Amino acid sequence: MRVSPNMVVTIDYTLTNDAGEVIDSSAGQGPLAYLHGHDNIIPGLEKGLEGREAGEQFKISIPPTDAYGERDPKLVQTVPSNLFEGVDAIEPGMRFQAHTDAGLEVVTVVAVNGDQITLDANHALAGETLHFEITVLEMRDATPDEIAHGHAHGPDGHHHDH
Ligand code: ZN
Repeated sequence: MRVSPNMVVTIDYTLTNDAGEVIDSSAGQGPLAYLHGHDNIIPGLEKGLEGREAGEQFKISIPPTDAYGERDPKLVQTVPSNLFEGVDAIEPGMRFQAHTDAGLEVVTVVAVNGDQITLDANHALAGETLHFEITVLEMRDATPDEIAHGHAHGPDGHHHDH
């Protein structure tokens, strides 16, 4: 069996950035089961997994264009602090959900200058080359339900609440 569209694939992964810092890992939270061929994971990783067999281990580096995209300077905006009614103290690093032209987005406060707040709506990993270490644990054919929903229902096919 090899990884191909409409299969549920279970992987262990460690994600590091260019500096070698671990950004995310399945260690501690358990393996990831995803539906292959349905954009459940970033395009570069899906391409890297295509055709793999259970038990394979590999490393792959994925440029921003095949991950979370390049950083867009237009997504950094400065707004007046009175837009944040009810928030006592606004500090760099805080995250808020905001209604933008592109829909509901998570924005991060990057600077506070008096009553001027600078927000960044780029994905936290935009512009980053991502380095994955992957172990393919297992795979199975997806159920018709999973294909209709466009996501995996766990390694055993059980449905999650959503
Ligand atoms: Zn579902």
